[in-house]
Amino acid sequence: IEERALNFLEEIIEEDISNGKNNGRVQTRFPPEPNGYLHIGHAKSICLNFGIAQKYNGKTNLRFDDTNPSTEETEYVDSIREDIHWLGFEWDKELYSSDYFDQLYDFAVTLIKNGLAYVDDSTAEEIAAAKGTPTEPGTPTPYRDRSIDENLHLFSDMKDGKYPDGAKVLRAKIDLESPNMHLRDPLMYRIKHAHHHRTGNKWCVYPMYDFAHGQSDAIEEITHSICTLEFIPHRPLYEWFINKLNVFPSKQYEFARLNMNFTVMSKRKLLQLVNEKYVSGWDDPRMPTISGLRRRGYTPLSIRNFCERIGVAKRENLIDLSLLEFCIREDLNKTALRRMVVMDPVKLVITNYPQGQSEIMHGENNPEAENGGGSREIPFSSEIWIEREDFMEDAPKKFFRLGPGLMVRLKNAYIVKCENFIKDENGRISEIHCTYIPESKSGSDTSGIHVKGTIHWVSVQHAKTAEIRLYDRLFQVEDPSNEDGDFKEYINPDSLSVIKNAFIEPDLVHARPVLGYQFIRKGYFTMDIDSTPDNLVFNRTVTLKDAWAK
Ligand code: ATP
Ligand code: MG
Ligand code: MG
Repeated sequence: IEERALNFLEEIIEEDISNGKNNGRVQTRFPPEPNGYLHIGHAKSICLNFGIAQKYNGKTNLRFDDTNPSTEETEYVDSIREDIHWLGFEWDKELYSSDYFDQLYDFAVTLIKNGLAYVDDSTAEEIAAAKGTPTEPGTPTPYRDRSIDENLHLFSDMKDGKYPDGAKVLRAKIDLESPNMHLRDPLMYRIKHAHHHRTGNKWCVYPMYDFAHGQSDAIEEITHSICTLEFIPHRPLYEWFINKLNVFPSKQYEFARLNMNFTVMSKRKLLQLVNEKYVSGWDDPRMPTISGLRRRGYTPLSIRNFCERIGVAKRENLIDLSLLEFCIREDLNKTALRRMVVMDPVKLVITNYPQGQSEIMHGENNPEAENGGGSREIPFSSEIWIEREDFMEDAPKKFFRLGPGLMVRLKNAYIVKCENFIKDENGRISEIHCTYIPESKSGSDTSGIHVKGTIHWVSVQHAKTAEIRLYDRLFQVEDPSNEDGDFKEYINPDSLSVIKNAFIEPDLVHARPVLGYQFIRKGYFTMDIDSTPDNLVFNRTVTLKDAWAK
């Protein structure tokens, strides 16, 4: 990756290091809530947290932020671990906020003992009403001045399951008149009688994000706690808890979250797409999830390069999906194996080629690789499939493919000239008749004939078939979350089209899902995980930038 200016976080860290802060130690964390699969926005945060630690000899913890028992599942934990590894990162420690439940409870007791937290019996609505508005101060509820002893008892009873959900909460006692709403006696604990994926039924009180997150950072001695811009107004509260508890002074820094057009990036919305069957699952190749992108044929390098290219901003913006596509093309152009596939076939008969005879042609695996990446064998015979769109009955002047009297090169094979064609009863071209120039074979062409166009083909007799899934953007509008009504109204009805019986060159039966292929002139593809030897399935990762450039 080319040299670039430091981003603002790196500037902060370099300054901290030169000031000897934390003895130059850099410790970050990536803190996913295991309530869904990771998406490309998380990849941004992963690249940032792990990338910064790598750059400054630091470490990154993977911390599952699992303080909300009702939405969290082990399946999500497993997928998150897999996706981070796949992206190419190794965490130092694997930790869970739920491991700190005892410690967090003790922290809360400490605050109560210092007169800095109280049990409130008000309902959620009463608490919200008493908080005031940004322009009007809040007012105390009748429970704010409970004695320390009473608060200690009540909090202990909350923990022991003596109250139903919602009956009481623990609040920090800060400032009901603060201009920052987050400081108006925020909730620290709520009662929730729910099974937790790790602690089972041990707890029925659970800490709120603002109390759990910063204290978890402090417990792990995180030096730079990087989060997204929405947390700027939470920062004074983050620091208040750390100060009052006198724990390790982790510092919070905020950057702009990644937003991308033509998709949605909230786990809640992605979950709706899955549950309501708009997509086949979290790893549907149209999803912006890491697992969806992987299945679609994206490589870890392309995603890391994308995250590097978009940089680290302090203001919200909407990144163009085409930048992500640029990054995967850039990578696959260097690595993808070139193969020939005909998706909308019409038969071409070479009338002067011996019937029933065939020969083996050789095609480079990848002209961008050293020595062409080796070559594969491609059988050729007198009858081949070509794309219907590569023939025109009334070809305009600049049409450098086939039409009556026109010549074209068959990729890795001969030059052919169209002599004739046949139509079926519906007026559709059903067969194209050509002659070939025997001296024009690729690699040993002595014909002296120059043609402008090259087209791909597959021998009829040797062709295998495959299902090809072509994907388009999942939404019809740039920013579906900012449109009127439900975001799902803006789903692109044509985001998936399936070609059932494409003709593929025989070498493709050896394809493997992890490899990228360029179907010449058609785009980049990868084998789908649904593929079986009897029913090969390929996903289009991305189109070629310019279908006619090659
Ligand atoms: P979502 O809103 O999609 O549900 P989240 O923030 O609730 O995401 P978490 O599991 O809490 O999801 O996220 C883990 C980390 O990833 C957090 O530090 C969060 O700031 C970061 N993150 C989440 N979404 C993005 C994004 N779009 N761009 C950059 N970072 C993100
Ligand atoms: Mg979150
Ligand atoms: Mg969320």
